Amino acid sequence: MTNPAVEAVLFDWGGTLTPWHTVDPLEAWLAAVGDADRARRLHAAENGMWQRSRDEHRSATLGEVFAAAGIDATPEVLAAFHAWWEPHTFLDPDAPAVLAGLRARGLKVGVLSNTIWPRSVHEQIFVRDEVADLIDGAVYTSEIAWTKPHPRAFRAALDAVGVADPAAAVFVGDRPYDDVCGAKAAGLRAVLVPHSDIPAEQVGPITAEPDAVVQRLADLLDVVDRWG
Ligand SMILES: [Mg+2]
Repeated sequence: MTNPAVEAVLFDWGGTLTPWHTVDPLEAWLAAVGDADRARRLHAAENGMWQRSRDEHRSATLGEVFAAAGIDATPEVLAAFHAWWEPHTFLDPDAPAVLAGLRARGLKVGVLSNTIWPRSVHEQIFVRDEVADLIDGAVYTSEIAWTKPHPRAFRAALDAVGVADPAAAVFVGDRPYDDVCGAKAAGLRAVLVPHSDIPAEQVGPITAEPDAVVQRLADLLDVVDRWG
């Protein structure tokens, strides 16, 4: 069976459109709340949400993390939290030209991110980095019930860009389990960007090979052109 022509390319965000940074998330919580005890509670609550994502593919929100830790998410705390993360949110310098190149080929561009952050934070990043107009649809799992690798997360992303047939879509991500296995199980082709140092407890069981590996995002255009 031959694949249909590519109609859409969907991207993961962290480690894919934005290069991987190895950071200690506890430091973000320390910056947010200012004391070690509350920071540790928030960090533990967040880790619990990511374990649930890995094992049950169920999503979570920042609000749930704060509630689980028993701490108020005041505007000041949230602002300090996101300010700590900001240096780690900048897009890969290749990304704008790649997204524009895909659009120039008549393809839809989408985003599917496993995230507890709200849509507004992600959208501000895309506006700041001048790619918001190059994205046809985005799904942030903080807004849906499921996370990658669940097929319904991929279905939501396909719907967001208006593509019916998963085989006409390509998913680009940095995580072999969430992104590659998830996309392939949902019927998409999968491209791996293999530069992320995924924490061992987040790796998950890996049961699929990517259809392509790109060492840098700019190489993706050739891959998509080959697939037609
Ligand atoms: Mg990622």
